[in-house]
Amino acid sequence: MGKLITRASSINRALDQVGDKWCLLILQEVFWGINSFNDMLAATGVSKGVLADRLKWLQAVDCLHRKPDENGGKRMRYHLTRKSVELYDSALMAVAWERRFFNTRELDEITLRHQTCGRSFQPELRCRACGDEVRVNAVSYQPGPGATGDERDKKVRRRSSLPVQNVPSRRSLYKNLINIVGDRWTANVIALSFHGLTRFDEFHRELPVATNILSDRLKFLVEEGVFSQVAYQQRPLRYEYRLTDKGEALFPWFLTLLQWGDRWCSPDGRGRPMHLTHVSCGQALVAQVQCSACGGVLTAHEVDFELGPGAAIPSAGGAG
Ligand SMILES: [Zn+2]
Ligand SMILES: [Zn+2]
Repeated sequence: MGKLITRASSINRALDQVGDKWCLLILQEVFWGINSFNDMLAATGVSKGVLADRLKWLQAVDCLHRKPDENGGKRMRYHLTRKSVELYDSALMAVAWERRFFNTRELDEITLRHQTCGRSFQPELRCRACGDEVRVNAVSYQPGPGATGDERDKKVRRRSSLPVQNVPSRRSLYKNLINIVGDRWTANVIALSFHGLTRFDEFHRELPVATNILSDRLKFLVEEGVFSQVAYQQRPLRYEYRLTDKGEALFPWFLTLLQWGDRWCSPDGRGRPMHLTHVSCGQALVAQVQCSACGGVLTAHEVDFELGPGAAIPSAGGAG
């Protein structure tokens, strides 16, 4: 009981560990230096019970490390680990997506500054081999050594149905993205659409999901502007779900998460489930997040967020 078999995927493995809405929100706060229980409680608006539960979970999967305040106080602080600090790539791509598709004063006022070159920048996802920006249609997929079914425990898939929009998070730099990808089925459908799937039956064949839930998620993704709905058959009426520009632009977030899953979430050392090739240059794809100003590869400790006049957030808190 409670076991599901799904196609092995580093995206799914990563989502099992950190893909819950609250886990994504908590990690976002820790990236911006909010790392005590009470500060996180205030910043995210989550209930105490849920926060305690997710903090425990994130420690269990080695994404947070708890230790006493360095200044000798009684407070415990939650720190990023070597594993979770590498999620910074996807956090940067999340911010880039959010800024492109949502205009809020808070987002407009943010300046990302690269300490290494001193300039403000946009994060860009580029192929390490050829330097081109990686686009969804320029990637091909081949089965890797770990391409078998994954047995997954249903208990892992605990998902909150609370919309993140209602959360009074002070600095939800990418709450719209979290609201879309922080649901397991929604995230799965988008990931499959990057492989060219467009029809209800195709999604249903790949996912162990009830048809009413799948319908509901597809409707949600159309409402959110991730898919456009196009009739491909009149009798009976059938629709295709095609990625919009906004949907395609989620690809860098998924790709950084996939690479993180390859690196950190392989259960038994079988190797990665998929090999990715950058079609533009023909090389095995290693995508890296780079500074648009100097081309340097970005790391968490070299990026400052400046939130308008006088409200700078320091770079990510130390790992370990
Ligand atoms: Zn390339
Ligand atoms: Zn730079």
